Order: sequence, then structure tokens, then C-alpha cells
Amino acid sequence: MFETTIAGSLPKPSWLAEPNKLWAPWQLAADELAHGKADATLVWVKEQELAGIDIVTDGEQSRQHFVHGFLEQVDGIDFANKVKMGIRNNRYDAMVPTVVGPLRLKGRVHQTEARLARAATRQRLKFTLPGPMTIVDTIADRYYGDKVAMAMAFARVLNEEALALQRDGVDVIQFDEPAFNVYMSEVAGWGIDALHRCIAGLTCTTAVHICYGYGIAANVAWKKTLGGEWRQYEEIFPALNASRIGQVSLECVASRVPLDLLRLLPDKTVQAGVIDVANNAIESAASVADTIGRLLDYIPKARLIASTNCGMAPMPREIALAKLQALGKGARLARERYV
Ligand code: ZN
Repeated sequence: MFETTIAGSLPKPSWLAEPNKLWAPWQLAADELAHGKADATLVWVKEQELAGIDIVTDGEQSRQHFVHGFLEQVDGIDFANKVKMGIRNNRYDAMVPTVVGPLRLKGRVHQTEARLARAATRQRLKFTLPGPMTIVDTIADRYYGDKVAMAMAFARVLNEEALALQRDGVDVIQFDEPAFNVYMSEVAGWGIDALHRCIAGLTCTTAVHICYGYGIAANVAWKKTLGGEWRQYEEIFPALNASRIGQVSLECVASRVPLDLLRLLPDKTVQAGVIDVANNAIESAASVADTIGRLLDYIPKARLIASTNCGMAPMPREIALAKLQALGKGARLARERYV
């Protein structure tokens, strides 16, 4: 009851990448960088275990960014000439690579860190991949000329890597689709179809993560425009509930999402965010347990996993660690309280 996991990412140690920022440049190169990524992965797998997290991740220590870390291993993309593009409906500008030819995996993307994390723990292992809608919103296109066709092409290569991760012993494969909260009308239209292409042939648990983003300034400003109640989930949950994706990872705390929207996911296990990633204040175990208690009005115990609202990549390392520990302790307290 009340198993715990995290959305996915954790901060990189300052010796590996510049701290407290997204797209942080690596501090190491060549073999040293490879060793540094492996060391950081082991540290975070162990820290999650020590904090009592049931379903752990590699902390995304081997990728600079959750989207571009995958794209770097895909043929057909020009990384040498990045272009400036407004992403997430022009919420912010990013320097993005361009699709210039047919997409094909160059080889395995995440084999090294997946196998390392698998060997390092007996906990269940979750692995995150960017979702197709979010990818096509984070890259320019000079080849496909059609967003949906390009998304389906990405879904094919994501599926290839997902099947390989399953063979590596990964228990849960999660696709991160923050774009689902931006282009709501397109989710039922093609977003779910693209996810179904991603999970074809998978027998492990599958999940999709949809949030309001990291606590970076552009997201904080965007949230101010969303009004008193954030009802984006309302438009996409019916289609998600009808989908073949097993679990939905959501933002549920310190957020203006009305929790009764969770009733629109009666057939899904929900990884509910009970840890705020947009605020450095550390939750107490009691407040985490309180949040879990509130969620029980809308989700039965058997379908509730306690998680973080989003990734913790841009946070200070010691804050992220303290939040992991609060999550573990809060879930333990909830197990005692809500028997
Ligand atoms: Zn997120």
C-alpha cells in the first residue's frame, strides 16, 4: 500500500554537471564523463533505496536533458546547427536540433545506465523516455513536414528502445508528456495513438507523466496565467483512461489541480505527486501523509502510488535528497494511518 516512486530525474552532483540548472553543461569529458555518469547513477539508486523509495530510477544522470538525451542517439537529426524555437506553445525559447532525414536509432540509447541501475538494486526499476508529442514540440523539422507523421516516426524508435529496456530488466517504462497539458485537444486526436505505438509489444508496466513542469521561472510565470483552477487534466483524462497505458503520473500537491478530476481515471493506477518540485521547502512526513489522505477521497488505496510532482533535475542536490526522504517517511506514516 502507498508504494513510492519519483517522477524520474534527480539533480546531478556538481562534479558531473553545473548545479541548479536545466541543460547544465557537463563538467567532465570522454572516459571521465562516462565514469562520472555511472558513479552518479549508483549514488542516486542507493539514496532512493535508503530513503525507502519502492520503485527507483536512474535519476536521469546520463542525459543532459530529458528530451535531447534520447535524441542524441537518433540518426536523421542535425545537432550541429541548433535553431531557436518557441516550445510548449511559445512558453519559452529553446535551442533545438532539426530533423533532416528518416529517424533511426544509432544503437542503444540507455543500455549502460539501465543495466547498471538494474544490477545495483533489487527494488523495482522505472525508466523514463520522452513522449512523442513532447519530442515533436522540442525539435525543428525540415524532413517530415507533418507533426503527426514525425511523432509516429519517433514513436517507432522509442518503441525499439523501450523493448530493449524491458529486456534489460526494467519493470516500469514511463513516457514523459508535459506537452499533453498544453495541446489538450490533440491528445485524443493522435497523442494516445503515438503512445500506443511506443508501448507495442511491452509486457512490463507502462506509464505516462503529465505535469505543469519544473519550478523554473518560465513555468512559474505560465502557471500564473492558468487561473484559479487548473483543469487541463479534465480534457485529457477520459482518453487516457480509455487507453492501454497502465499508470498515469500526475501533479497533485501545491498545485491548483482540482483533485476531484482524478475520478476521471477510474481504471488507472495513479502515481500522484505529493512532493512539490517548484519549492525548496522540505515537506514534513506528516504533510506528505496528509496529502495522501486527501487523495484517498478520489483514488482507492490499491491504485495510489506516492511520487513527486515532476522531475527534480534543476533543484539543489541536498534539497532533492531531503525531499526523497520526506516522501519515504510520509508514505510510511500514511501506511500506519490509513490501514
Ligand atoms: Zn514533469
